[in-house]
Amino acid sequence: MFIVFEGGEGAGKSTQVTRLADALKAEGRDVVVTREPGATDIGARIRGLVLDRDKTEAPSPRAEALLYAADRAHHVATVVRPALTRGAVVISDRYVDSSLAYQGAGRTLPVQEVSWLSAWATGGLKPDLVVLLDVDPGVGLTRVDSRGVGTDRLESESRAFHERVRYAFLDLAASDPKRYLVLDASRPVDEIADAVVQRISGLLSP
Ligand code: C5P
Repeated sequence: MFIVFEGGEGAGKSTQVTRLADALKAEGRDVVVTREPGATDIGARIRGLVLDRDKTEAPSPRAEALLYAADRAHHVATVVRPALTRGAVVISDRYVDSSLAYQGAGRTLPVQEVSWLSAWATGGLKPDLVVLLDVDPGVGLTRVDSRGVGTDRLESESRAFHERVRYAFLDLAASDPKRYLVLDASRPVDEIADAVVQRISGLLSP
């Protein structure tokens, strides 16, 4: 079972990933928590290249898309597929939809081309469920700002960029409702966590 959490800045993905992992582990399940970009050694270096503005120039949009795709290809080959093969539940903080939303809609690269690139990188591996934590960019960016991490890079993107990202995620969810759970990220953490567990318990074998 492959579960992905997606959402804009400050949506609370990492909190919810941890909550779900803890709930599934408490049931005795084999759970692998992972993320993009940066879950592997190679991925950590790529994460630095795409996100660390103090050390690296900003990659051009196509280079950025290829770097995220390289991170994903290695992540799927060395972490996600092996775990799925042994029967684990894999929970990833971000996956293909982040590239469609950020590199496609955000950077205005053709979304279909980014989708092909991702399909090639992953060998076509799709999640069983995507939990989209939907947040208004104004609210999300304020949350991130209060944590004080990496805000310069985020503020260098326009509000319109973050709006495009948000609506790209929502469009993806609307195009395949059976595979998505869309939740309002401004709801209390416990309510969101309960809604996720409820949806997933219907998908997992006892
Ligand atoms: O989810 P997390 O906060 O770790 O993501 C780090 C950053 O990477 C986010 O600010 C997001 O803007 C960026 N990102 C991106 N394209 C992706 C994945 C992440 O721009 N495909």
